[in-house]
Amino acid sequence: MAQAAAGRKLVTLIPGDGIGPEVVRATQAVIEATGASIDWEERQAGASIFRQGLPSGVPEDTIESVNRTRVVLKGPLETPVGFGEKSANVTLRKLFETYANIRPVRELPGVTTPYSGRGVDLVVVRENVEDLYAGIEYMQTPGVAECLKLISRKGCEKIVRMAFEFARSEGRPVVHCATKSNIMKLTEGMLKRTFEEIAPEYPDVESNHIIIDNCAHQLVKRPEQFDVIVTTNMNGDIISDLSSALVGGLGFAPSANIGNEVAIFEAVHGSAPKYAGKNVINPTALILTGVMMLRYLGEAEAADRVENAVLVTLESGVRTRDIAGDRDGASTTDYTKAVISHLNDRSGAWSVRERRPLQLPQVSAEPVTVRPGSRRDIGVDLFIESDLDPRALGKSLEALVEGTRLSLYGISNRGTMVYPSKGRSNADCIDHWPCRFMLRDAAAGLTDADLLDLLQRVSGTHRWVHLERLPLYDDERGFTRAQGED
Ligand code: NAP
Repeated sequence: MAQAAAGRKLVTLIPGDGIGPEVVRATQAVIEATGASIDWEERQAGASIFRQGLPSGVPEDTIESVNRTRVVLKGPLETPVGFGEKSANVTLRKLFETYANIRPVRELPGVTTPYSGRGVDLVVVRENVEDLYAGIEYMQTPGVAECLKLISRKGCEKIVRMAFEFARSEGRPVVHCATKSNIMKLTEGMLKRTFEEIAPEYPDVESNHIIIDNCAHQLVKRPEQFDVIVTTNMNGDIISDLSSALVGGLGFAPSANIGNEVAIFEAVHGSAPKYAGKNVINPTALILTGVMMLRYLGEAEAADRVENAVLVTLESGVRTRDIAGDRDGASTTDYTKAVISHLNDRSGAWSVRERRPLQLPQVSAEPVTVRPGSRRDIGVDLFIESDLDPRALGKSLEALVEGTRLSLYGISNRGTMVYPSKGRSNADCIDHWPCRFMLRDAAAGLTDADLLDLLQRVSGTHRWVHLERLPLYDDERGFTRAQGED
């Protein structure tokens, strides 16, 4: 087991897949050339491990190393698409609860884009472990797939506090919270509500909410208006790639996954397999990621030197193929040598930001239980797979629950109310029907006996595939209406 020499920090180094080893070696060389007090412990994850038959893509000795070093510098890991194994990246982020993904986007000298000269300088703070990325998926029927979007109050609080703390540490005056709360009022709405509750604790930082689609539009139209954007996992994934394109593309986009115990530093980009081994890709994203890691480890001077060296290199006109083109682009190794040669130079056109150490939000590691003053269930949605038309299904279900405490309130199909239809719906129905049953006496509260009785009655005639309780918390509905429901 490797150990750092006295006074030095040990970092787990994961070369990764595709272009990973090239960008990792480049970054390692630059950091070593600063003389920073860092030792490396190399471990594997990703494609080679999947090929050995380990479904997580992350072997035990890598997990053990991260648990010990608590800091990782990694290359991208290839993810099988659409089937089989989970992403090894997401596994690493989740295993070590690196709940915040911080993605800075800043205009760079010598990297000409349609936005050059507008001073783009923003940071996307993306929730990193919840939302659709939890990857909880089911085939409810052979033709209907489900992905659960679980968002917790605790997860929202952590990411919102991280965004405000990050803004403070970098002296950034404004935080935008970007959500789709107009449509997903409960899930995306939870981030918005939490943001609005916590914002008054940071009176020195201006807080605004913006709908995520408009945020994407504004990022393209007037990106210089943004400073810090906090958002849910999926939204953050998309807008951070979009934002990186404003300043030259994925070759310039660094990122840090931060948790209370562990931090994993990696570029935003993936393994770009078509460029693997060709010595043509841009290592800047991971080198700037290395700058974030050096700052995290308290190596501020080395961080400033590397940041300046990248800027001076770009100012000097040494650029890789992605921006200079095939004919004029420097190779990955030549570009890296140029950066190392400028480690003692300072960019005149650039200021390194004044920073205070980031205060990690103090949110208890214990499970958080949100306790309402009152709660009761007033009905149930039972999802049924059936070839019947909505009217025939409705009549059948009404007959099955006659004389019980539950009555059929309505049937929807892909979110639209289709029974009773009132003649309004043209929904193109599929064989998957969420059927809403409500207690005839809502004050009574739904019991397990009501549920079991319902399941017994329905399952004799129909195939049910999913069930959701309909709760009231403090007399507020904990469920949504179907489209078209009054
Ligand atoms: P990608 O690897 O990021 O590549 C997309 C495109 O971005 C490349 O074709 C290239 O554009 C450009 N690019 C990316 N990195 C670059 C660099 N360092 N220098 C210059 N150009 C760069 O995305 P992908 O093709 O969608 O994903 C490939 C694999 O990586 C997948 O298995 C995916 O799951 C995985 N992935 C891993 C991570 C991670 O480990 N954190 C993140 C994202 C994706 P041009 O074609 O225009 O030259």
